[in-house]
Amino acid sequence: MLNRFINILNRGDLVAFPTETVYGLGADAWNPTAIQKVFDQKARPADNPLIVHIAHRKTVDSFAETVPAAAEKLMAHFWPGPLTLIFPKKPEVLDLLTGGLSTVALRWPQHPISQELIEQVGPLVAPSANSSGKPSPTKPEHVKEDFGDDFPVIAAGETDIGLESTVLDVSSEPFCIYRPGAISAKQIESIVNKRIITNNESSKEQNPKSPGIKYTHYSPHATVHWLKGDINNQDTLYLLHQKYDNIKADNIVHYAGDYKQMAHELYDRFRQADHEGFTSIAVEPLSETQKNELIPALTNRINKAVS
Ligand code: AMP
Ligand code: MG
Repeated sequence: MLNRFINILNRGDLVAFPTETVYGLGADAWNPTAIQKVFDQKARPADNPLIVHIAHRKTVDSFAETVPAAAEKLMAHFWPGPLTLIFPKKPEVLDLLTGGLSTVALRWPQHPISQELIEQVGPLVAPSANSSGKPSPTKPEHVKEDFGDDFPVIAAGETDIGLESTVLDVSSEPFCIYRPGAISAKQIESIVNKRIITNNESSKEQNPKSPGIKYTHYSPHATVHWLKGDINNQDTLYLLHQKYDNIKADNIVHYAGDYKQMAHELYDRFRQADHEGFTSIAVEPLSETQKNELIPALTNRINKAVS
């Protein structure tokens, strides 16, 4: 069933495929022409580096110059899974792929289709399979919406997590989270037994260490804002996670503390709002006091859609 897609990748073209986070736009990580096609297809700025997806621990050594002992523990514990690690890169890793940085980002995804594809073709770059600036795709239909009906997509239903991987820089100390995801700072700290930091660089900064930070992301056409005041606008889609549980209407979604479900369908709700003609999306403010490991990732993605 995968043969057709394996052939497309082997000849240097692109295939969208499911991972456990979101659908990825796959291309051969050693083929510069294929990588250029990824940037063109997404209209992605050239300085926004790609993550290389692998399916064996030993493949890390083809890309990373050095692997700290603590990173070894993280790989053993969280891979395959939604954790991307940033290492100093080997000289032969293509500059096109790293946006000219001296580091490279690696992840071993958990989805069986991603693993099969990588085993057959080799390491794949795989940014989210959406046009830059749009919400990441969590269903095959989302990829078709952005890239057209004829675009090759390995359709396998909805992705499980629904938010992109945690990105952790292990190329220098202290380790630093550039993008929060389903694997939390606390989980990482419990494995490495040391403090890690979370990057507080502003999205407006010219040369942030993780260039993706400076670009607007995840935005539907509807304007996204944090809920203030009442829930009485018919043109607004309301996403509520705790409060206001007693109000029922077609434009109000209650998660009742189920942050996993909220993450799972957030991007689909963003796209749904556009399809159904909502002019805005109001999200009940999240707070760390809710003590769920998905809160930082949800807050980060919603803040990006707001800005
Ligand atoms: P995407 O593939 O669209 O989910 O985005 C990949 C994210 O990883 C972006 O935020 C990039 O800035 C970040 N990233 C990839 N490679 C590196 C790297 N070498 N150093 C810092 N950040 C990186
Ligand atoms: Mg993306």
